Amino acid sequence: MTNLVTNVAESVEQRPDSPAVVFDDAELSYEQFWTRAGRFARALANHDIGADDRVAIYLPNLPQFVTAFQGTLRAGGIVVPMNPQYKAREISHLLSDSGAKAVVTLSENVPAVAEVVDETDVEQVISVGDEVEEATDFEAFLAEDTLEIVDRADDDIAVQPYTSGTTGTPKGVLLTHDNLAWTATANADLIGGIDPEDKLIGTLPLFHIYGMSVVMNGALFNGAAYYPVPEWDSTEVMTMIESAGITVMFGVPAMFNDMINHPEADEFDLSSLRFVNSGGSSLPMEVLERFEELFGPTLYEGYGLTETSPTTHANGPDARRKGSIGKPFDGMDAKVVDDDFETVSRVEEGPIDEGETDLTEITGELVVSGPNVMAGYYGLPEANEEAFTEEDGQTWFHTGDIGYWDEDGFYYVVDREKHMIVTGGYNVYPREVEELLFEHEDIADAAVVGVPDDRRGETVQALVVPTPDADATPEEIKEYCLENMAAYKHPREVEFVEELPRTTTGKVQKFKIRGEDE
Ligand code: AMP
Repeated sequence: MTNLVTNVAESVEQRPDSPAVVFDDAELSYEQFWTRAGRFARALANHDIGADDRVAIYLPNLPQFVTAFQGTLRAGGIVVPMNPQYKAREISHLLSDSGAKAVVTLSENVPAVAEVVDETDVEQVISVGDEVEEATDFEAFLAEDTLEIVDRADDDIAVQPYTSGTTGTPKGVLLTHDNLAWTATANADLIGGIDPEDKLIGTLPLFHIYGMSVVMNGALFNGAAYYPVPEWDSTEVMTMIESAGITVMFGVPAMFNDMINHPEADEFDLSSLRFVNSGGSSLPMEVLERFEELFGPTLYEGYGLTETSPTTHANGPDARRKGSIGKPFDGMDAKVVDDDFETVSRVEEGPIDEGETDLTEITGELVVSGPNVMAGYYGLPEANEEAFTEEDGQTWFHTGDIGYWDEDGFYYVVDREKHMIVTGGYNVYPREVEELLFEHEDIADAAVVGVPDDRRGETVQALVVPTPDADATPEEIKEYCLENMAAYKHPREVEFVEELPRTTTGKVQKFKIRGEDE
């Protein structure tokens, strides 16, 4: 049996002196990191926190996140990762819903936790940073000795991240040891194996499944070094890639967009990168091409969701088609279905020309089945009903994304089902308009939403971040769209803004643009 702990234990055995976590020039070797995780596990056990108990980790990317993560699993517990930007209301929901018994947080966030702790089952508040009242300092919490690994079965729950998609109350997603171990291995296989000499940069937040599963687990399963980055800053990250000789980077389109728009982009040497992947939202073709042109490494796109641990599809050195999310991983099944769960036929060649093809003919919902699909949402039978369809003994998970597939087995995501705009009876997928906007030389970033309109039901609105030396006006941008796409798709409203509201995983918060609560 292998699971999230035994896999890392193997790395420790094979490479005790190699760097496991590198932060601010300080290195924790596999042996040192493992000992600290064991001491954290022992401390939990001393407080009666063990099998199936939840421990919330409410931290940015720091070495203590990695220690607490492995320590919790080693004690048999379940990790509940929480976005460090959450405020009291959000923390209260996650802590109460999960029934967490302990929470690890930055000292500066202890007051927010203290505010809500009485409404929850939390017994231990552990703080990282300055010593504060109402919490036990992380170092003081660690026990003197280490705990042996508490046995866990493959289908025991290991992590319970929360996701709301882009709307709705966050739901706890039950991911098993097997879900996550399978995904970390499949991602490493995609890039021809992660080598112990590899250096993976941790720019993706660890509270999110992509940063946790693909990057952190990917590194630790394979004896490679993990470099946590607490906050995204393109200058710092590019400097670090160059000076540390980072070999693997997983990121989101907003990060790659920042990198290509950096005023001194061409002065960085990023040639140590042997594999770069983008996921989390669709990668505009312009960003992909500019990145490769400026920096050299191929930028591969992948796709997934929290509910699928996350990756289901990816491009890689063996199979790649630009503009596509790639092929399903070996061992995964995927298809595109209509409202009656009938398979939508494949297009003969891909990618299609979105401006000229009638998308309604070839698109449907992307559904997937495989070893990385979650056990279910925590305590939400109705949401589980909606999320899964049983067919001929196989369980399919509904992604809520609209896409199509081609005869060579590549898949394409057009947009999220709920982002589709219906204007005057026509369907418009914002992504198509966004792709066109990205091609305009005066546009650095763009997002398209539907806004209520008396005549058309909804109308297309574009928010545009102009480049520093842009001279186009909103009127000209409208004209440009009108010239290049069917009139019903063009944004009738174009607004220039300084930046777009994004989540830390790069998704544009469209509900905020539309002025909705959530
Ligand atoms: P999350 O649960 O936060 O990982 O979000 C999952 C959602 O991100 C998916 O349902 C998609 O809507 C979106 N997503 C992830 N990767 C891609 C991609 N390569 N292209 C388009 N959308 C993506």
